[in-house]
Order: sequence, then structure tokens, then C-alpha cells
Amino acid sequence: MSQFWSPAVRALTPYVPGEQPREKLVKLNTNENPYPPSPAVERVLQAFAVDHLRRYPDPESLALRQALARTHGVEPDQVFVGNGSDEVLALAFQTFFCQPKPLLMPAISYSFYPVYCKLYDIHYRTVALDDRWQIALEAFDTDNGGVVFANPNAPTGHGHSRQAVAQLLERVTESVVLVDEAYVDFGGESVVPLIADYPNLLVTGTLSKGRSLAGLRVGYAIGSRELIEGLERVKNSFNSYPIDMLASEVAIASLEDQSHFQACCEQVMATREWTRQQLETMAFEVLPSQTNFLFVRHPRHSGASLFSGLRERGILVRHFNKDGLSDFLRISIGTDDEMGSLVEALQVMV
Ligand code: PMP
Repeated sequence: MSQFWSPAVRALTPYVPGEQPREKLVKLNTNENPYPPSPAVERVLQAFAVDHLRRYPDPESLALRQALARTHGVEPDQVFVGNGSDEVLALAFQTFFCQPKPLLMPAISYSFYPVYCKLYDIHYRTVALDDRWQIALEAFDTDNGGVVFANPNAPTGHGHSRQAVAQLLERVTESVVLVDEAYVDFGGESVVPLIADYPNLLVTGTLSKGRSLAGLRVGYAIGSRELIEGLERVKNSFNSYPIDMLASEVAIASLEDQSHFQACCEQVMATREWTRQQLETMAFEVLPSQTNFLFVRHPRHSGASLFSGLRERGILVRHFNKDGLSDFLRISIGTDDEMGSLVEALQVMV
């Protein structure tokens, strides 16, 4: 703590991401993809002309925005890019949510949202999940300075249909509704097609999960031109070069290879369903998931004891030491072998 820090920074509890362990563990704690990125990524990296790095990248990231626009069936001027969707979310919070009315968010969702609110002095209100651990979209009232939620939600895993989100957008018309689709590639339904009808809808996405590029840091937002223009305005006040040259080329190569991406996501979903069945035979409660993780609890064992038992057996999962969540473990879906090791370890423990 320093006297030189501003009051908002002094009051801040920074978000702590899942551990990146130094020792070799079966790592199922940060929802990374267990499969390598597209082979096209390797070809681009090998062929990259290093001399190009003398130059600044394109301040408009046009080629990458065009590739994302083609992938999502929108126009390049409806796309914004940043260093991971975390950065895009931070810019969106600054651009849209510093309002007199409170930002609404689910009581359980991505824990970065309240961190951004505290940092940017955004007044927010949380809305409880329903009794099935799903976001109660109908409980979001219209008197707000914005709405944000992850769909599918993290860490609970449930995703709402496009139609359910459209119903929310029919009611909330005066503020920005930000739908964070970080996990949509694993069986969720994207709401990007709704942007044509709802100028206040902003959808964020990432290449970190479905496309196995968490180390690259490329995320994006898709929305109406007026929302994208707002984001550009804020971004240009910080750094007018959104994405570095190498990341941009790698991301484009990945986006052009739909078949590798789809095959990896399908494999992850198949492994998820196998894991669910195995856990259910051990009496775990497994929440329905449209993501690359499962959120589970056991009637007889605490989340903390399962976490440490797995860790002793060389398996790292995520445990949130927070009110209401401490019974649960969030388990990322790894390869079949990794999930086999998880199941074997749990069979000894429960
Ligand atoms: N949204 C949610 C819900 C997440 O879980 C994550 C990853 N932790 C992100 C956004 C950010 O992902 P990235 O910055 O890698 O794009």
C-alpha cells in the first residue's frame, strides 16, 4: 500500500487468475484448451519476416477485423479488437458503464467485472442466480446504466438461448447490454446475429479458448457501429495500436482454419460429457455445461478438501474460496488421458 496510489487503487482487491504452476501437474484450472492451435499458426510463425517488426502495426488492425467479420457474418466496422477479451471488457466498462445509474450483473459471474467497477468507480448492483444456478435474465430491471453477463456463464457453465437474450433486449433499450461470449464455442448459442436488431448489444469474444490461443492475447467485440466507434475513441486515448503485428497474423491464420477449430471444440465437448457421466456415478452434482469446464460439488466432501486431495495427486483444478461457491470445484476439460487421471484420483478420494 502506498500513499501515492489513488483511493480507487488503494481500495482495490486485484483479480487473481488461476495458478500457472511451475511443477508438472495435470492442469485443469484455467479453462485452457488442451489441444494445440491450428497447424496454420505454426506455418505463419515460421514464415514470419522478422524485419517487419521494425514497423509499427496497422493502427486499425484492418486485416484482423476483416477476418473476424468474415467469421461472424458482420462488417469490419462492427468489430473491435484488443489484447485478450479482458482488455476489450476493460475498455467497454470505461466507454459505456461510467453512468449515474448502476451497472447490473449476476451475483455469480466472471469475477473481473466487479474489479473493473471498483477501478473505474462504476456503481453496480448484483442480481441473484435462480435456484438452478442460472442467470435470472427476467430479474434484470430496466432502471440501469448497463447490463453485463457471461453467456455461457462462468463458473457455473449454463448458457441462455439467443431468444432468451432477445427478450432481455426487448426490455433493456436505454443502456448497453454486454454479453461476454468467452465460452460460446463449446455448445453455446452466440447472440452476434442480434446486433442487427439491437444497437445497444455488445458481444465480446476471445481466441483464448476455442482456438487454443490464450498465450497470444487476442479478443474482440462485435456490435453496432456506434458502440464500436465509442470503443475506438477510448482505445485511441490509451494506445492507438491495439494488436501487435505477430499476434494479428497468427490470429488471422487461426480464424481461416474453421475445421481444426470445430474438431477441437467437438472433442472437448465429447470429453466433457464422458467426464460428467463418470462424476455422476461418483455422486457428484454436475451443473449443466455449455463450456469447456464443469462446475461440480459432492454431497459428502468439501470443495477445499477435494481441491487439496487432487493437488496432492498432481491434479490442479479451481476452487473459489467465496461465499456460496466454496462447495464447488471448477474443472477444465483436458485431454481424454487427463480426464481419465482426474476420474481415477477422485475414485480413490470419494
Ligand atoms: N470472460 C470470461 C468469462 C473469462 O472466463 C475469461 C478468461 N478468464 C475472459 C473473459 C478473458 O479471456 P481472454 O482475456 O483470454 O480473452
